[in-house]
Formats: sequence, C-alpha cells, structure tokens
Amino acid sequence: MDSVDSKVEKLVKHFEGVKRIGVISHVHPDGDAVGSVIGFYLFLKKIGKETKAILKDGVPYQYSFLDGSEEIGTQFDCTNMDLCVLLDASEFSRTGFPKPEVPLIRVDHHKTGEFYSDYDLVVTHAPATVSLVLEILRKWNVDLIDEKIARALYTGLLTDTVSFLHANSFTWAFKDALFLSSITDIEDIGSLVYERKRKAFYYLLVRAIERLTFKFGGKLAYTFIKNEDFPETGATAEDTDGIVRHVISIDGVEVGVNFIEYEKGIWKLSARGKGKVDLSLVCSELGGGGHKNAAGCSIKGSLDDAINNFLKVFEKWAGYL
Ligand code: 5GP
Ligand code: MN
Repeated sequence: MDSVDSKVEKLVKHFEGVKRIGVISHVHPDGDAVGSVIGFYLFLKKIGKETKAILKDGVPYQYSFLDGSEEIGTQFDCTNMDLCVLLDASEFSRTGFPKPEVPLIRVDHHKTGEFYSDYDLVVTHAPATVSLVLEILRKWNVDLIDEKIARALYTGLLTDTVSFLHANSFTWAFKDALFLSSITDIEDIGSLVYERKRKAFYYLLVRAIERLTFKFGGKLAYTFIKNEDFPETGATAEDTDGIVRHVISIDGVEVGVNFIEYEKGIWKLSARGKGKVDLSLVCSELGGGGHKNAAGCSIKGSLDDAINNFLKVFEKWAGYL
C-alpha cells in the first residue's frame, strides 16, 4: 500500500500543476468504467479544472441513473487538454479512438496492458479502478468528495466485485465501501443497477441459454449472441451485460464464455472463470486481456472460426480445469 500511496501522491502533484484534464474509458463501458469516469470528472470540475469526459458508446441505460451521466461526450475532443487520463482500460485502443498526441496517464487495475507515462497508476490488487480514483481524490482533497461522486464510485465498486463476490483485496473493497457509504446513502444503488433490466435482456438470455454448449466434461460452457439477435429481440449491445454470469453460475462449470457478434463477422468474447485458469492469459493470446476471472478479446470470422480459435488456445489450459 505504501508504494501505491507514494505513486498517488506523485500523480496528484502532477494533476495540480495542469489546467485541463480529459477523462476517458473503454467501449461497451461497464460499471467500473462509467463510475470511475463520472466520479473523476465531477471531482475535476469541483476542484476547478477544465475537463471533458468521454465514453465512445455513451453511458449505458443501466448506469444512466448516475448524476453526471448526461455530461459524458461520445466524441474524442481531448486534443486541447494538457493530458488525458485513461481509466479502467489496458490500452488506449480500448477507447475505440486512435491514440492521440495529448499525453496519456493510465489509471487501471488490469494485469495486462500498455504504459504511457511515469505517472501511470496500475495496481492489479485494487478491487476496481474506482478504488484507485478514490485514492487519488482522498489524497487531493477529501472534503470535495460529495454524494454524486461517492454514488458513481460505489457503483463501480459494487459491479466490478460482482456485488462483493470477487475482489483481489476484500479488505480494500470493504474499506472503500465503508468510506463511500459514510458519504452517501448506498441503499438504492444495487437495485438501480440490477433490478431495472429491460425485457429485451431476457429475450437475449433465453436464446443464450438455449444455445449452451459444454466441453471438457462440462467444465467449459459457452454460448453466443448473433448480430441478428439484436433486431429480432429488440435488444441493444447494452442488454448483453450480465448474460455470461448465468453461464459461469452453472454448477460444475469452471469457465463460461459468451461470443457476442456486436458487429457482423466480429465476435467479442466475454469470458468468466472460477479461479482455475487465468483467463487474462488465454485472452491475451487472442489479442485481448482482462483479469484472471474476467477477460475478453475479439475474433474475426464466422462463429465456427471464433469458437474453434478459442478452443485451440484454451486447450493448452484445459489440464488445469
Ligand atoms: P467483459 O467480458 O465484461 O467485456 O470484459 C471482462 C474484462 O476483460 C474487463 O475487465 C475488460 O476490460 C477486459 N476486456 C474485455 N475485452 C477486452 C479486449 O478486447 N482487450 C482487453 N485488453 N481487455 C478486454
Ligand atoms: Mn474494472
């Protein structure tokens, strides 16, 4: 923690010395991406910085209850910023924009990825990127952390730990939860995140469950969502969030994968595990990355190509199942 502390201190000093700070995260943003972008952005405004926050795909419906979500842009307009902070993403390409000229600083908890500056704060044992944002804000000016900021950060913490099911450090996760709940009433956040699913989510889920395939004696389960499934069910890309959790939740399944065709001919893999195989390594080999128990990548081609490519790489790890 000491080394984290000194890195945070150095980073805060650097932030204090600049006027304009852009904030950005990855495509198909999850709760941690949205929470860290909104939380940091609201704080930067409050402390008097010129700032812009960007998520190429915007804030998903699931997180639209967060104050500040309406201020998040979808175009990359950080070129006039002094620096741009890349949150919760292993590399800038994950933002969906080409790498800009503006200096970058990565604040993240992913194991794999690129480094952009001496100020990068990449801490793999952090329970979520919002936890690193919280370290920064506390060091910078703890009194400025208000209810709106705390709600955004708590949303990231809740979702990235899958409601405190996983955390590289539970001690850190609960410490943050305790702090955030002392600033804001967190009672309604879980319900706002998890109990407002659109019907289209269930139409997609039914298809995904019907298509379940089991390999390696039932320890690997996979399913898929085709591009046509979106218009046919009325679902959008945001409605896929959470489907893979149903796959990994099956008794005996050690690795669950959802192959999602957001764009025709490109299969986005969403993989989840229960600790036996490091999925960030599996997905890195396919050009992606992530965490041990939650990782992803994209494979071009037909569905059969995507499945076969994945299985070919995965076979090497199957012995650990
Ligand atoms: P999800 O399945 O929710 O899309 O992603 C699970 C985890 O893997 C997240 O932490 C996400 O950032 C990471 N991830 C997903 N897709 C990719 C990818 O294409 N490249 C990299 N580097 N990480 C990914
Ligand atoms: Mn995350």
